Amino acid sequence: HGRLLCLPHAQGEGVMSGMEKTQLLGMTPDELTVYFKQLGQPAFRARQVFAWLHQGADFEQMSNVPKALRETLDENCVANPVSVLETIESKLDGTIKLLYRLPDGNVIEGVLMRYKYGNTLCLSTQVGCRMGCAFCASTLDGCARSLTPAEMLGQIVCANGILAPQGQKVGNIVLMGSGEPLDNYDNVVKFLRILRIEGGLCIGMRSVSLSTCGLVENMRRFAEEDLPVTLSLSLHAPNDEVRRKLMPVARKYSMDDVLSACRNYIEKTGRRVIFEYALVHGVNADPAQAVELAGRLRGMQCHVNLIPLNSVPERGLTGVTEREVDAFKHMLEQKGISVTRRREMGDDIEGACGQLRRRYIRDNQEESETTAE
Ligand code: SAH
Repeated sequence: HGRLLCLPHAQGEGVMSGMEKTQLLGMTPDELTVYFKQLGQPAFRARQVFAWLHQGADFEQMSNVPKALRETLDENCVANPVSVLETIESKLDGTIKLLYRLPDGNVIEGVLMRYKYGNTLCLSTQVGCRMGCAFCASTLDGCARSLTPAEMLGQIVCANGILAPQGQKVGNIVLMGSGEPLDNYDNVVKFLRILRIEGGLCIGMRSVSLSTCGLVENMRRFAEEDLPVTLSLSLHAPNDEVRRKLMPVARKYSMDDVLSACRNYIEKTGRRVIFEYALVHGVNADPAQAVELAGRLRGMQCHVNLIPLNSVPERGLTGVTEREVDAFKHMLEQKGISVTRRREMGDDIEGACGQLRRRYIRDNQEESETTAE
């Protein structure tokens, strides 16, 4: 693929952060109504503009909006704060890896998976992540900032733009890109409330999965929001000792607390929880650990998703062989746990979390180093 655009990453004094413009895409219809009222506009403008924004229109394309108003909006607002910098399509399965640019010059990534039953988009919720999991590339540089609701919706609008020529749309959302969704709680909740509105993207909560490393207080709070998404819990271990080796968050919350928050979620929403388990050679992949895991999950309305680790060179952790995956899976099955192995998609395009963004940062650093010489 071609050379990447150069980004203004400078954030020094006098440099606009690019975030000053109002992000209308992240407003609810009620908020838009107030906004347009202040501009002396009738209430129906809010509905019109809401529909246009979620269809991916720019202000000048909003043909039923008066020209003067379109110009005012263009000056003060941004229709979609997210733009696509680069796409890479997998030759294996049509998976598309996306690199997006945000108004302040930060970059994030996403993955568009093309299944027979529809298109699933993997969204980022933060620029980077501060959870520090040992196997994850997203967290290597920490978290630059959380994304706004508009920046989450904007990723979907961008992907819909890519699918439009084929008469397709994004049907399912997984919050499994960079970032910890429950560490950006208010924005994620607002994003979900806007996501399902008719006349907008209209994606129901049954089509959404939220993946969390297990922030217990916010899991309990989220169970009360009446947003019954599928909860995916990144477990990755059969006990606290192993979990602490991989996930710093496990020092704050015990597995008992996390599992009890999961039970609460199942009770409140009636939905089963998915446990994600990345198999790391020599750490958590022993068949005896499968037995221990089964013991912990017994009686829960749940499903285990085994993920062969995408090895991250920076981290020095290695994945497992096919035989190890099979043995672990077989053992869970024998103990009556529902389990699948996650389909690997886009293996040829750095599909795993945080890897494309890292390559991008690496390349651009090299580029600016060469130009500096
Ligand atoms: N912060 C959230 C969501 C982001 S990551 C969470 O922790 O769940 C989505 C999933 O990919 C998580 O289960 C995460 O643990 C897993 N993951 C991260 N890096 C991985 C890697 N190198 N190999 C396999 N799975 C990985």
